[in-house]
Amino acid sequence: MFLSNISAVFLKLNALRVLFSCMILTSVEILVNKSSPKKPRSRNIFKALFCCLRAQDVSQPPPPAQDTLLPPEDNGTIAKVPETSLLPEVTPEDEGKICVVIDLDETLVHSSFKPISNADFIVPVEIEGTTHQVFVLKRPHVDEFLQRMGELFECVLFTASLAKYADPVTDLLDQCGVFRTRLFRESCVFHQGCYVKDLSRLGRQLNKTLILDNSPASYIFHPENAVPVVSWFDDLEDTELLSLLPVFEELSEAEDVYAKLQQLRAP
Ligand SMILES: [Mg+2]
Repeated sequence: MFLSNISAVFLKLNALRVLFSCMILTSVEILVNKSSPKKPRSRNIFKALFCCLRAQDVSQPPPPAQDTLLPPEDNGTIAKVPETSLLPEVTPEDEGKICVVIDLDETLVHSSFKPISNADFIVPVEIEGTTHQVFVLKRPHVDEFLQRMGELFECVLFTASLAKYADPVTDLLDQCGVFRTRLFRESCVFHQGCYVKDLSRLGRQLNKTLILDNSPASYIFHPENAVPVVSWFDDLEDTELLSLLPVFEELSEAEDVYAKLQQLRAP
């Protein structure tokens, strides 16, 4: 019953995807709520596990997950920032390299509870005592992209999703150990309904830091450090990651990412 409701939700969601560039969790919750009004627990699974917030979602913020370690302040301002940096010291191997923060969902992979016949990975995740299978699709060319990025940059995975989902997915995705550090939801700042990746907390020079993310809300504190990427769900012809490689090749040699990005953005 639950699964058939979920399937119905995703069928509706596929139609929404034609209209929107990103899955809207609030829409999922609304649809699930409509189709199974007597099962409020099931709604939480979606919002608890993944994070795919768009800037537009700010107007309808979901409540923070129970295990969010940085809850919003009562007055809605930014939660307190810990004094220690999120990243460890730079290793000798990465000395002098620019740090790139890379998002997971809809940037490198797309995951869902809907069974997918061609899933690259199926990851069991326990939620509220029940094990659910999460079906993961890799974005086309992600392996080649990550391999090259690992040669050019100090790469950091930074996702607003929960570690119990994102960590095993990254184990499967990043076979070569490109990501020096993995940061999950608890490392985000919950700000006005969004999980924001605050680059100033990384412990790296900001003019030597980039963020690659499909969600502008994720880098709302540092838009000038961002390399935007189109959200990906299931288009097997997608070449976005390949087309970004020449951009990152150029950025890898920048003395100052702000100047180089400005140059690249210029018409
Ligand atoms: Mg994302």
